[in-house]
Parts: sequence; structure tokens; C-alpha cells
Amino acid sequence: MCSEGGARGDWTSREAFEEINSLLDHLASEDLNSVPAESMGDDQIALQRICNRVQAEGLRRLRRFDSGQGYASSGALSARAWLRWQLNLTATSASERVATSRKLAALPQTERALADGVISYRHVALIAETAGQLGDKFEAQAETILVDTSKEVDPWRLQRAIWHLKHCLDSEGVLSDANKAHDRRYLHMSQTLDGVYRIDGWLDAEGGATLNTALDSVMGPWVEGDDRSATERRADAVVEIARRQLDGGQLPEVGGQKPHVAVSVDMATLSKEPGSMAAELEWSQPIPAETARRLACDAAITPIIDGKSDRTSRVVPGATRRALIARDRGCRFPGCDCPPAWTDAHHLKHWADGGPTTLDNLILLCRRHHRLVHEEGWTLQLDQSRDLVAIPP
Ligand SMILES: [Zn+2]
Ligand SMILES: [Zn+2]
Repeated sequence: MCSEGGARGDWTSREAFEEINSLLDHLASEDLNSVPAESMGDDQIALQRICNRVQAEGLRRLRRFDSGQGYASSGALSARAWLRWQLNLTATSASERVATSRKLAALPQTERALADGVISYRHVALIAETAGQLGDKFEAQAETILVDTSKEVDPWRLQRAIWHLKHCLDSEGVLSDANKAHDRRYLHMSQTLDGVYRIDGWLDAEGGATLNTALDSVMGPWVEGDDRSATERRADAVVEIARRQLDGGQLPEVGGQKPHVAVSVDMATLSKEPGSMAAELEWSQPIPAETARRLACDAAITPIIDGKSDRTSRVVPGATRRALIARDRGCRFPGCDCPPAWTDAHHLKHWADGGPTTLDNLILLCRRHHRLVHEEGWTLQLDQSRDLVAIPP
């Protein structure tokens, strides 16, 4: 509790807080239904400004609390620890608040702009962090530029301006930061007990942009009827990129062979005889018979049937595939416009059930629709005009 006199002479800060709270109570009791909605815009601006001013006062008082070790009497070992304990802040935001309050002592223009309410706490934290990183190279003129920018742009765009400013003032430092970021790159890939893979990683700016550009291109724009979430589409796109690399045959050989994914499966499993064993993917767990049937459908994945590699016998011959592409021009699933490069040749009657690998028995399906037809139980039928009809399970 603070009892020293403030600007209002005989006011204590506790009385000021009571006053502010009673004014907020007054605002909260106003019936907004009788106020024009348009005026809420001005209210948003006014309240945001007040929030910013409150943040400035909070930081000013935190600096005094920190330097005078006001936390010590409660047994806390630092202002940061006290903030975590009393305000339930995370360790990161408590550290940031203390560091920002300390740095503001040497950033008069920034402190003034926050106290005036014209920039936000997020802007201030970024400017303070930059000043700390640049040290002696950060001069008053740089502060002026960042404060002026903060009045115009959101913190994300301020961060971009900061990168440019840092590059002007300390290009060596920016290069060394980029090198450190590059050194943090990694990709973990692990398989869980149920066979699913978990991927977790960190890429530098260039690596991330490269992957993102490739993913964007493979994902394409969202189309009506695609019920996958953005994260599901991204997961499908990563697999699709790897798969096209394997299909393209441009990857280096491994152990004298073109790299390929092999699936071991018994003929009994492929023809879905009751009591048959599961199929097995190389590097993976057993997979359901229907997945093996899909993979074997276009022999996109090398089937090892009854122990013998069957890499060529079921492959759709080049001439048949070209005719298929000319006829179907992409995925035949109703409403899908996936181009031929994204499709598999699907046997309407599976070859394991005696269906021939001929044009009449083949259609192109994109990977997603191929999966719907095999694993998810959709049925395809040709109507009288040989148009495809898809029937949900
Ligand atoms: Zn198929
Ligand atoms: Zn499709």
C-alpha cells in the first residue's frame, strides 16, 4: 500500500485506484441497448488508449518495485518471481515485463508514447527488446523511427521494420542471428506404438519458406466439398510431395535400388479371405487389407506378394495409362478436378478379385478419393451413359 502524496496533493494512489474502479463500474452499468452501435467504435479507441496508459503506469511502478526490491518483504526472490506468484503470469511474460520496465528508463520517447496511450504494450516490448539487442548502436534517432512506426502499424509489421532497422545499424549482428537460427534447425520423426508417425521440427526462415511454397502449390486453393481441415490438407500435401519424388524416379539409389516403399501382403489378404493376415508396410506397422488393396491397385507401392516382389506384373502398362489419362483427364470422382499427376489408376474390379488391368476396368482417382473408395467404404458405379456415380457407405 502506497501512502505518498501524488499529483492531486492529498490523494493516495489507493484512492486513485478506487476512483478508477468506480468509474469503470459506472461504465459497466450503462445499458448499451439504448446507445447507438456506431458510437462503440469511438469507445473502443478511447478504452484502448486508457489500457495503454494503464500499462505505462504499471511499468513505471514495476520499475520502482524492482529497483527498490519491494518484493523482498513478502519473501519473493525477484520481481519476476513475485509477478508470477501474485499476478499468475507465465515465466516468459513476467520476465518480459520486468526487462521492459528496466529498459524503458533509457527510452524516454517510448515511455512517453505509451503514457500518452498512442502505442501499445506489445509495441513497447518489441522496441525495448530491440534496444537491448543493439546496445550502443541503438540511438535516439532509431527510437524516434520505431515510436513513429508503432503509431501507424501493428506489432507484426513493426517487427518487420525492426528487422530492416537492425540490418541498417548492425548487419553483422543480423547475419549472426540468422546463423544462430539456422543452427537451431531439426526434424524429429518418431513412430508411436499404434504405427502413426509424429513429426516435430524447426526450420530457419529460408527452409520454412521453401517448404511452405511447395506445400501451398500442392495443396492448391480450397475447393467446395473438401471437408478436410487446413492441418489435414497440409499433412496430405507433405506426403504427396514425398510420393511424387519417389514416383518421379529422380531420387538417388539406396543399396543399388531406386527408393520405393514396399508392402508385404499375402494373396489371401489381397482377396480378403476371412482369417487372413494383415499386410505389412516397410518401416511401419501392420496395415489393414483394404489399405494394401488400394496400394496394390495401381502398384504405386511395390507389393511383395506371398514373399515375392511383384513390382512389374500389375503395373498399368504405359500405353494403357496414356489412354486412361486422355480419357479421364484427371480424377473421375464426381465433382473432383484433380489433374492426372495427382491420381492413381483404380481397378473398378480389383485385380486380386480377377479384374483385368484394361481400360474398361480402370479409372483415375486422386489419392483422397482413392482412399474414400477403398478404406472408407464408398462405392462407385457407372450409370447407363458411363458417368461415375459415387454412393456413400
Ligand atoms: Zn483402387
Ligand atoms: Zn478426386
